Amino acid sequence: RAYNFNAGPAALPLTVLERAQAEFVDFRESGMSIMEMSHRGAIYESVHNEAQERLLSLLGNPQGYKVLFIQGGASTQFAMIPMNFVSEGQVGSYVMTGSWAEKAFKEAKLVGGAHAAASSEDKKFLAIPELSSIKAADNAAYLHITSNETIEGTQYAEYPDSGSIPLIADMSSDILSRSFDVNQFGLIYAGAQKNLGPSGVTVVIVKEELIAKSPSNIPTILRYDTHLKNNSLYNTPPSFSVYMVNEVLKWIEEQGGLAGIEAKNRDKAALLYNHIDGSGGFYRGVAEAGSRSIMNVTFRMQSEELEKQFVKAAEQEGFVGLKGHRSVGGLRASIYNAVPHESIKALSDFMKHFQQTQG
Ligand code: PLP
Repeated sequence: RAYNFNAGPAALPLTVLERAQAEFVDFRESGMSIMEMSHRGAIYESVHNEAQERLLSLLGNPQGYKVLFIQGGASTQFAMIPMNFVSEGQVGSYVMTGSWAEKAFKEAKLVGGAHAAASSEDKKFLAIPELSSIKAADNAAYLHITSNETIEGTQYAEYPDSGSIPLIADMSSDILSRSFDVNQFGLIYAGAQKNLGPSGVTVVIVKEELIAKSPSNIPTILRYDTHLKNNSLYNTPPSFSVYMVNEVLKWIEEQGGLAGIEAKNRDKAALLYNHIDGSGGFYRGVAEAGSRSIMNVTFRMQSEELEKQFVKAAEQEGFVGLKGHRSVGGLRASIYNAVPHESIKALSDFMKHFQQTQG
């Protein structure tokens, strides 16, 4: 298998792929693949409900929360959130931490109204703003954060307090990577394709009371209350993706739940950052120390030419996905939950070797 450092879709646990392969053609002795079944049948519904329950259980069974499975990626949530929550005369307040926060902000501007509650643009988005500098607008319907900026490689160490308005988080690139208190949030969303499974499904964890009734002028499929009332079965769900999410959640349980996964992730990130910091400047971490992501490790070398050579040499050794995002350049190793420690060790050995070959 490749050493897969892709930013998304990203590596899946090998055991999950193997289990899925074993039951790919004949699921639970039905004579059918899960992909071929009716989503209204008992077998699929049991998988669907199991995935929702398992996710809540991994999060400590927070009271009053529901899990929704929606399509259209996290990008559709960028639109659904302001459509469902911003009323006349209100805005959504956004903490501007980088490329994904900006996309979410732009959608809110189109649909309702958007306000910047804080920004680290003056630091080229290489740090998360001080929590004390984050101020939602007086007429804010919610405060929106991007818990991990996939492109810049920054991550909140702690979350801001949104006071009396709901805190909404795009956790697409770090959901279930560490323990956290769901009760701080009104709504959390994440495209599955990094830490939860394959692409095709977006997971929304939401306080039920927030979405009991959506404004009446929103198209049916874009209303949260449609998905809530129909247990995310209003239309045909991405059934195979939901099944895979359930399998990934089982695997997370086997890793010791969020505490177990967090310990492994911190270990992996420390190995890589220590290597970068100890390279005498040959490799340079991009994000500020206190804002470094344990999921997306961004770094640079002395020149773009050297970075190109690095990516090429790495590819020849079986390392995939190390090129930084096209908008910022440089290098990035995405080390999501499913990337094993051995891959990081192999990368760190390769980095050492590459440095030596450069004299
Ligand atoms: N938000 C973050 C933090 C992301 O990393 C991504 C994708 O990489 C998105 C949103 C967009 O997700 P999607 O492609 O599922 O719309």
